[in-house]
Amino acid sequence: MKRTKKIVFSLMGVLLLLFFVATIIIPEKLDRKFNTVTLKAPYTVSKKAQELYNTLDFIADMHCDALLWKRDLLKKNEQGSVDIPRMIDANVALQAFTIVTKAPKKMNFDNNTGDTDQITIPYILQRRPIKSWFNLTGRAIAQCNALHNFEKKSDGKFRVITSSSELQKYLSDKKVKKEITAGFLGIEGMHALSGKLENVDKLYDAGVRMMAPVHFFDNKLGGSAHGVSKEGLTDFGKQVIKKMQEKNMIVDVAHSSPQLLNDIFEISTKPVVSSHTGVQGTCETVRNLSDEHLKKIAASGGLISIAMFEPATCNSTVASSAKAIKYCIDLVGADYVALGSDFDGAIEIHTDITGLPLYVEEMLKLGISEVDIRKVMGGNVKNFMLKNLPKQ
Ligand SMILES: [Zn+2]
Repeated sequence: MKRTKKIVFSLMGVLLLLFFVATIIIPEKLDRKFNTVTLKAPYTVSKKAQELYNTLDFIADMHCDALLWKRDLLKKNEQGSVDIPRMIDANVALQAFTIVTKAPKKMNFDNNTGDTDQITIPYILQRRPIKSWFNLTGRAIAQCNALHNFEKKSDGKFRVITSSSELQKYLSDKKVKKEITAGFLGIEGMHALSGKLENVDKLYDAGVRMMAPVHFFDNKLGGSAHGVSKEGLTDFGKQVIKKMQEKNMIVDVAHSSPQLLNDIFEISTKPVVSSHTGVQGTCETVRNLSDEHLKKIAASGGLISIAMFEPATCNSTVASSAKAIKYCIDLVGADYVALGSDFDGAIEIHTDITGLPLYVEEMLKLGISEVDIRKVMGGNVKNFMLKNLPKQ
């Protein structure tokens, strides 16, 4: 009997040790495997492009999934595209940290259900709080808390912006102290509400200021561009949009089915954004926006944020994203166009965040004016956020 007990305890010990070792090795391996970069740093650009880049006073990007990975954002990492030291190196003023809470297995652009999830096991292996293992709202809040913790430990170098007054204060501080940077929180896919309207308040209180109704599969709010139904907004979806806009949370239409987009425009009372998209005009795929929807975003006073990876731009070059930017400027004017990389979104991205000067270079090659380049590189995001974030 004693012997059996001893064997059981030793086995449990070995298993625990194996689990512990797996938590150290596997999360970093997954980060390296999924987040790759076509062109690796360091980057060199023409003198003209670099000089213009150096004079940009506000560089911003509307989408990045860095919080999904167990990466220490306070140190410069070899893997992935974003961390605070690289944001400071690239003089990035504001980065959206968009939270993913569930991703179906065998993810594709055409037809996914929410029946499976490939995030649960990596989440456990990342040793996240137990509350976040099987609960999607808990998962979102764990990622919000992670960003707030980076802020706390950053020695004042990094801030999480939640209101226009905080943004104002940050802007005036940044004039004196260049080596500071900031982020704000968003969510991809409002299955993160766990089906409860009141969780909008919970996520708002955790700092979230932008949310996209759907991600890769249909949920209680409506149809994803990559889901099965391709439907529009449900009654629940309408209630959520209304509540979000009452609270001055930004509605992000990325990954919405065309019908969902139409329904959002029908009921929306505030500007809407697409945080990371390509355009049908240069790359015809289901993930990209039609001219009609691009015009509606602009008419709402929103932002079209251009993504930086092959499935969104039909090419793995910086030039292909610049081409989509030019297309939008020609279609709706430069005031509604921004960057929405999708850094660290389990994709191969054109460059890491320190490669942003290459975008200036490619825009110059396309004849985009310096004034418009300033707007696209972040000027528009600054104005949009000052106007649309909650005041306090
Ligand atoms: Zn996405």
